[in-house]
Amino acid sequence: MAAKAMVQHVRRSGSVLVSDTTLRDGDQAPGVDFTPSDKVRIAKLLEQTGVHSIDAGFAAASQDDAAALAMIAQSVPNLVVMSLCRAVRGDIDAADFALAGRALHRRGVGVFLAVSPAHREFKLHKTPQEILAIIDEAISYAAERFQIVAFAAEDASRTEPEFLCECYRTAINAGATTIAFPDTVGILTPEKVRDFIRAIRDNVPELDRALLAVHFHNDLGLAVANSLAAVSEGADVIQCTVGGLGERAGNAAMEEVALALRLHSSQYGRDTRLDLARLSELGRLVYEASDFHCSLTKPVFGANIFASEAGVHQDGLLKQSETYLPYPPEMVGHLEGVKLVIGKHSGKHALMHRLEKLGMTVDSEMAEKVLDSIKQLPRPANADKDEILLELAKQCLMIQS
Ligand code: MN
Repeated sequence: MAAKAMVQHVRRSGSVLVSDTTLRDGDQAPGVDFTPSDKVRIAKLLEQTGVHSIDAGFAAASQDDAAALAMIAQSVPNLVVMSLCRAVRGDIDAADFALAGRALHRRGVGVFLAVSPAHREFKLHKTPQEILAIIDEAISYAAERFQIVAFAAEDASRTEPEFLCECYRTAINAGATTIAFPDTVGILTPEKVRDFIRAIRDNVPELDRALLAVHFHNDLGLAVANSLAAVSEGADVIQCTVGGLGERAGNAAMEEVALALRLHSSQYGRDTRLDLARLSELGRLVYEASDFHCSLTKPVFGANIFASEAGVHQDGLLKQSETYLPYPPEMVGHLEGVKLVIGKHSGKHALMHRLEKLGMTVDSEMAEKVLDSIKQLPRPANADKDEILLELAKQCLMIQS
């Protein structure tokens, strides 16, 4: 069976597939409105970075979404391009139309249906039996048109595990090639993730012919930790976004998951195979296109993550950067390297190093004097500006001479 061979191939390869949803879940975040050309630029860079698939939009949502999806599909020949669909024929037809002409192994649908008690009762007004019938009908319909069919059990993390597994068995038997576990409201902890993934693997024997994807939201700040827990329990696909952009507190940040797996490769034994050196560029592009602000302390992308103002750290970094860094900046394509910020906590070595670069050599004693005068500034952080620092150093030299 083709699906079984594909699943075995992925599991034997030692890869964790990355399914990026920046262009769909990320685009859904309030305030984000990617233009079609932004979407194409991001998709191309995602392809170069080495993601396996992209959730590129919701074809049935609007004419614009469908047109953007078709445009993206044309620009990334090597990616699997997916469209989100509700479990209704019209949505699957819209995806089929938007992705027409694309190779069958490079296009797919992500069909979602809410399965939790709250959604069944308050949103859908359906019994569990009716939910199973909808899954069977929609997935069968999708499988007649697509080789790649993912079924996402919306709000899976608040669903009775027995019923959730029944939904997944139904979906795979109807032709789903991936089942997705979304923590739609971002409520899980890593320990709960382990319990869920184990329950699914124990109770869905059909997983020998479907991949298991996970999708975590960051409402508790745990989306990355939860993704790693899922990988350690055998999840095949990580759905995530660049910078963690997405609904509410966002999604699992692709760059953080990929970096953690790379740095702890012996622990996880599997890797995303992403070209991490592209990450900085990818981050810049997505922040620019989304108009979102990147926090100074954001892992992988933040302006402060390779900067240090503390004297003891600066001294260590000057001697050997690994003393105070978890990984070298160039690993994630951060080309500016370590930045030693001059301010009230700086040490004389960093100060001498900076002045040297500005063409001014001072001895240790003079460096102490300059540091003292920095501390007396109304705003010592201003000393990090080259012109202010030079002026200050010149004044100290003049007083001495
Ligand atoms: Mn989501």
